[in-house]
Amino acid sequence: MNILIFGPNGSGKGTQGAKVQEKYNISHIESGAIFRKNIGGGTELGKQAKEYIDRGDLVPDDITIPMILDRLKEDDCKKGWLLDGFPRNKVQGETLAKALKDAGIELNYVIEILLDRQVAKERIMGRRLCANDNNHPNHIAFEAIKPVEKDGKLVCRVCGGELSTRADDQDEDAIGKRHNIYYDENTGTMAAVNYFKSIDGPKVISVDGSSSIQEVLAAIMKELD
Ligand code: AMP
Repeated sequence: MNILIFGPNGSGKGTQGAKVQEKYNISHIESGAIFRKNIGGGTELGKQAKEYIDRGDLVPDDITIPMILDRLKEDDCKKGWLLDGFPRNKVQGETLAKALKDAGIELNYVIEILLDRQVAKERIMGRRLCANDNNHPNHIAFEAIKPVEKDGKLVCRVCGGELSTRADDQDEDAIGKRHNIYYDENTGTMAAVNYFKSIDGPKVISVDGSSSIQEVLAAIMKELD
């Protein structure tokens, strides 16, 4: 099963993606997480990407597109994948569609989480990252994924790992830029979403992201075969 998941930053896309990935035992490919891992590891790719990410800009396509297309060729992707954070613009979308077609890989689902921009912004500022596992979502405003307190500080509710905030999540300019890119229907992410919704093949699942994590998950699961 191969899935694209779309949603503005703050829509709960990562949280839902982690659950879908777990249920269907497919690989969860998150472009942003790959970049952050490279930044943490001090790699050349990380050094190139950091300045763009800190500002809330997209990392250039000539870096991002090959990185994702190569990742999809790795062995673990043969069992299926859920791609999150890519494509982020129209060019990436069209390039991905062509690469999948050329490789004879079927795209089965396009999941789209709908959320108002202001609500998405408020949600972004409350999320926390687990140092041990990117698939351990924590958020200070959501009961279901609230971090727990240990020795006077907040730690990951799943594993007790250290939590941090992302610099680009606490910077209103960077959030604004990321949302400008997402909601842009001409060349941005919405252009890619609309493109994938228009092509023959994948089943489109559009869900309202303003309800609870469980409700959004149920709405997605109901549509997945
Ligand atoms: P995310 O974790 O999805 O919010 O991504 C964090 C940051 O990584 C974004 O703001 C971009 O700077 C960069 N990034 C992630 N995915 C892409 C992509 N598909 N194309 C370009 N830049 C990306």
